[in-house]
Amino acid sequence: MGASAVGRNKAEALAERLQTDYPHLQIEGRPCGLYELLLTDADLLEGADLIIAATGSWAAENALNRLHVDQGRRMPVLYAWTEAHACAGHGVVIAGGGGCLQCHIGRTGAPAFKVVEWPDGGDANQEEPACGAHYQPYGPVELSYVTAMVGELALDCLLDPPSQSFSRVLVTSPSRIAKLGGRLSEAWLSAHGQVGSGVRTLDRPWPTAACVACGNARPEEVT
Ligand SMILES: [Zn+2]
Repeated sequence: MGASAVGRNKAEALAERLQTDYPHLQIEGRPCGLYELLLTDADLLEGADLIIAATGSWAAENALNRLHVDQGRRMPVLYAWTEAHACAGHGVVIAGGGGCLQCHIGRTGAPAFKVVEWPDGGDANQEEPACGAHYQPYGPVELSYVTAMVGELALDCLLDPPSQSFSRVLVTSPSRIAKLGGRLSEAWLSAHGQVGSGVRTLDRPWPTAACVACGNARPEEVT
């Protein structure tokens, strides 16, 4: 949001900016967490054509997934996140058929499939000595690949709503991953092999799995 929004609620400040830039649209921001929104205004979500969830909060997205399953998954929900250093990005579309979000997410919110692994702990957060803020050293240039991929995926969902859940994965260039001390994971290599030079994007299935949210699995069966 930039310095002009320091001290403001992010949802309200962003809605205000978008409304100024796009006066022909109706933009609303809700200054509360997703969990509270689900409790107080679930109808708002039920009337949507597409929901995009990029909160980075497993508690919030788990609650959204439960509501989505309970309501029969009538519209797609697009969940998006990045891996460490924005070396990979994931967009998962949960549609009416196939898996729900939790089918391939562990109990603590860790995705079952990772593109990059960090043998020497290169994915650890860094800390600013003065104020203790934690961060990872990447910026809008690296992140823009992921946001462009997720934006295109959102348009795909609106123009041609999918009937089956799937994920779209973006992996950055092998040279950048190597410079940061990472390497392609065994899961990636066994499924997709080495990546040539440059950025690569591909779609993967997101099938139903043993799951406490959409299936009959007991909690201890979920990995
Ligand atoms: Zn499930």
